[in-house]
Amino acid sequence: MNSAISALVLNEGGCLRCALRLAGEISMASYQTTPETKCTCPFCLGILYPTQYTQQTIDSIQSFDSEFTDYKFQVTLPPIIYLRHEWLLGKFKVSGIPLDRIVDIKDVFKWVFSPVIGQMISKPFNLNSEFRLNFAFECPDSSFEIEEFFNEFGGKKKESMLTVFKGVNSERILNRFQVLKAYEVDVKVECNLAPVYVTGNYLKPSRKVSQTPWSVEGGSEVVDSVQDCIGRVVCKEFAATGCVLHASVFVK
Ligand SMILES: [Zn+2]
Repeated sequence: MNSAISALVLNEGGCLRCALRLAGEISMASYQTTPETKCTCPFCLGILYPTQYTQQTIDSIQSFDSEFTDYKFQVTLPPIIYLRHEWLLGKFKVSGIPLDRIVDIKDVFKWVFSPVIGQMISKPFNLNSEFRLNFAFECPDSSFEIEEFFNEFGGKKKESMLTVFKGVNSERILNRFQVLKAYEVDVKVECNLAPVYVTGNYLKPSRKVSQTPWSVEGGSEVVDSVQDCIGRVVCKEFAATGCVLHASVFVK
């Protein structure tokens, strides 16, 4: 591990796991053997210490009424995580310390948390699993800082922050945000199965059946839709919560 890199991260209040990932450590064991402590790291905001989410995750799995044989994670991070990452890049630049490989925070999250969950549910982690555990992290307290970012560096909120970074020197971000608050993050844990795609052909001999659900003000001649007709059967068969029809019309 590059000690100059990890020393800088730790010196800026970062945690050991962030120090390892910025230094490019790819040994999962190195992360798994670091202690799970209360984390006030301004770079991962405690996300890399996920045993605090264990019970919430187990509760979510238990309330999901479907069978599965393995699982995988999907992680969504709040914008502040990307802003802090860019800040760090600026810090390394001005410090004259070159970075080689950076391990993605989402990968480290999976490395440290999947063994914990796998052991509790006695099922293996599988990157190709149809069953997904979604972790959607949010950080409402950081919203004003994100607002400041867009005000200062342009771009629209709808535009990806990563797109804005492309046109901004990371040293400017470093200078603009001098104090790094270690905000609290919330997480929503949801389970879902990968979509199932069903293809087929159909004939629609009635004009009173539309392709998709359709309502017209003041009433309509339409009595049902192909999407609804197919959806009723498909949803029942797959125990699905919804069904969307993508139709192409073939005219003879
Ligand atoms: Zn950290």
